[in-house]
Amino acid sequence: MTKRIFRAILTVALAALLAALTLIVGVLHGYFESRTEADLNQQAVTIARGVSLGGMEYFDGLRISSRVTWVGRDGTVLYDNWQDAVTMENHSSREEIKEAMTLGKGTAVRWSDTLGQTTIYCAVRLDDGTVVRAASTRYSVWALVLQAVQPILVVVAAAMLLAALLASRLSKSIVRPINELDLNNPGGVSGDFYDELTPLLTRLRVQNHEIHQQMEQLRRRQEEFSAITENMSEGFLVLDIRTRVLSNNSAALRLMETSCVPVPGETSAFVLCREEGFRRCVEEALAGRRRERMVYRENLCRQIIASPVMQDGHLSGAVLVILDVTEREQRESLRREFTANVSHELKTPLTAISGTAEILENGTVKPEDVAHFAGNIHREAGRLIELVNDIIKLSRLDEGGTDGPWEQVDLYHLVGNVLDQVRPAAEKRKLKLTLKGGPAMASGVPQILEEIIYNLCDNAVAYNREGGSVTVTVEDAGEGARLTVEDTGVGIPAEARDRVFERFYRVDKSHSRGGTGLGLSIVKHGAAYLGASVSLRSEMGKGSTFVLTFPPVRDARD
Ligand code: ADP
Repeated sequence: MTKRIFRAILTVALAALLAALTLIVGVLHGYFESRTEADLNQQAVTIARGVSLGGMEYFDGLRISSRVTWVGRDGTVLYDNWQDAVTMENHSSREEIKEAMTLGKGTAVRWSDTLGQTTIYCAVRLDDGTVVRAASTRYSVWALVLQAVQPILVVVAAAMLLAALLASRLSKSIVRPINELDLNNPGGVSGDFYDELTPLLTRLRVQNHEIHQQMEQLRRRQEEFSAITENMSEGFLVLDIRTRVLSNNSAALRLMETSCVPVPGETSAFVLCREEGFRRCVEEALAGRRRERMVYRENLCRQIIASPVMQDGHLSGAVLVILDVTEREQRESLRREFTANVSHELKTPLTAISGTAEILENGTVKPEDVAHFAGNIHREAGRLIELVNDIIKLSRLDEGGTDGPWEQVDLYHLVGNVLDQVRPAAEKRKLKLTLKGGPAMASGVPQILEEIIYNLCDNAVAYNREGGSVTVTVEDAGEGARLTVEDTGVGIPAEARDRVFERFYRVDKSHSRGGTGLGLSIVKHGAAYLGASVSLRSEMGKGSTFVLTFPPVRDARD
């Protein structure tokens, strides 16, 4: 703006200067022309007077810059101080000569072939009828200007310099109050500002206020949005059409397992995640199609849902939601595995029952063998019932269902009962059963407690060696009851120690004692249901120890 004001002032100054010069030159030109004419007239009169007195000799002593011509009564040129009079044509037809001969004086301005210039002529008639004429060049405006060009240039340069200085100072002083305006607080300006700016400043103040309010609203919305997205466990990513991340939450970075923090509008989504599935999803969404994909990495599973974003009918980017579905997938795979196992486990006894029944039906069995075959059916049906019962127990525990109300149970007493149940089997294998410790209370559903302890003791007997021992210790460690079942059996290999708690897992199927493979699963889920924990120590060939740790009685249901 300063420059524009400066240029405007300078232009005006220049225009004024030129106008003044033109005017001056015009006025001077007029003045010089009338002066030249008057001087010439005077000269003509003086010379006429001289010629009247001295005749032709008068011209001998005449020293003059103007052209002087003496013309006879018939128009013949008698004398000319610039040209040979004899060679000159008759001048009777010249306007100023004619006028002087008639009126005594004559003036004319015309182009002179002799002089090659516009010339002013002044003629005076003498008493004898001859005419004396003085002539002088009439200078054009340009000639005048050219003559004065040097001083004019000096004046113009000085004037321009002055004008530039003034324009610079003036433009700065005009702009200064405007520059000093506090645009953030236009209402707060005090003192030196233009009244003409008041409506503008008022408008600015109102707009500032509106902008401030809108910014505040935007900030609040942004905070709300961040609070929502940051508290989401799902990852959230907004991409522009060129795959650059516009917005994201920290869950997205966590789920993509990247330590790179994207710069909004700059970092490409492919820098954050290089998985092929992720890339495909983004590409499909940016091609305008919604896409869902699973991305597997080690034992983690992510579901990516990518949707295109349309704006005014045009595709402008994509929104991605990333879900951690590892647990869901694991549950799903466990469920599939369990269903397959159940079908398989049910099929074995059913096939045996069906086959045996078919043999009996055919009547090919000798009467004395019928009891044996019926016994087979009975045994397999028993296995079937045991299996179905275990499945029911497990599914009840899975659903959080119970087999009765919670009570405080003395574990020492309960273990005594359980040992009585396994004693016949233990005696068959000449095992020594020992109960150590003393009364210790635990909170729980008695039936579940008994089931857990029974399964542990039953396994300790079943996987023992002939003549071995099973020792159960019940103690109250102050921090809750602890129950230890220790056997001198085959032991469990290190790699199987975690897996024995899985459904249908058996260490060595060929040496299985024919159990359902669900016993330790019931122990694990039952203990979890009661708030207890179960741990296992084992040494191959020496035996295994299962430890159940119960929470203090008062906390059990918390
Ligand atoms: P099962 O009905 O086969 O006993 P469990 O779930 O009770 O099923 O046990 C799973 C597997 O763990 C068993 O098949 C067995 O191989 C192993 N196991 C369990 N308890 C013991 C133990 N006390 N000593 C050695 N192996 C054991």
